[in-house]
Amino acid sequence: MRTRFAPSPTGPLHLGHAFSALIAHDLAQQAGGTFLLRIEDIDRSRARPQWEAQICDDLHWLGLTWPEPVMRQSDRLPAYHAALQRLWDMGLLYPCHCTRRDIAEAASAPQEGAAPVAGPDGLVYPGTCRPDTPPRGAMPEGVTLRLDMARALAQTRRLAFVECGAGPKGETGLIALPPEDLLHKVGDVVLSRPAMATSYHLSVVIDDAAQEITEVIRGQDLFEATAIHVLLQALLDLPTPLYRHHRLIRDAHGKRLAKRDDARALSLYRAQGITPAGIRELVGL
Ligand code: GLU
Repeated sequence: MRTRFAPSPTGPLHLGHAFSALIAHDLAQQAGGTFLLRIEDIDRSRARPQWEAQICDDLHWLGLTWPEPVMRQSDRLPAYHAALQRLWDMGLLYPCHCTRRDIAEAASAPQEGAAPVAGPDGLVYPGTCRPDTPPRGAMPEGVTLRLDMARALAQTRRLAFVECGAGPKGETGLIALPPEDLLHKVGDVVLSRPAMATSYHLSVVIDDAAQEITEVIRGQDLFEATAIHVLLQALLDLPTPLYRHHRLIRDAHGKRLAKRDDARALSLYRAQGITPAGIRELVGL
């Protein structure tokens, strides 16, 4: 068994991150497997080395260890570029010049009929820039590239994955991913943004495969995104790992913890003298 914890160094770790990392670590250890750390720092405008240092320090304090050197996504741009090129050559990508506002306006235009649908990445793209035939020529650089979902689905067989934990509605076991759901509830997702030359979805899939992760452990907030990941694995001939989505750790008001909620930062608990065992107890482990 190979598991991973994949934080983005854009803020402090909070109790929810600790929960995820501890489960991933414990499961690997119990199975005699390997727990890996991966730093997801493709968002250069928000990633900071000091957050990375703090994250590693907090994880070590919790008692977690992992093989060095860690994989850092900012070192992996050639791998993401190669995957994008492959999808481009398959005729599955197209450049998009819409702003968020353009999308909101087009999606809510009266002639579209139905109400705009929110997918795992926000509003389902209304298709404004989608060409009738795949674009020819060299893959453009420095632009937003979207996946043509209808074409992508036409090139894949039945999609499914195994959920070892549970989704937000209790989904567990073999989860079938109907193509019509991907088409209408997910749509043409962005796979490359100008500022990062990749996207979360693309890089996470490439790197889980490169690190030979057998079980992806993460919060239920990413359950819906798994459909995109399974589709990309199928298109890029990559194995689909097992997935284990866990409950979210909430604050006293029942709200999901976010990076900006520094109140639950592990470092603050540490400063108050809590022990790693105390953290385990707090998150119900
Ligand atoms: N970097 C992502 C996050 O912190 C990782 C998500 C995942 O585990 O796939 O949310």
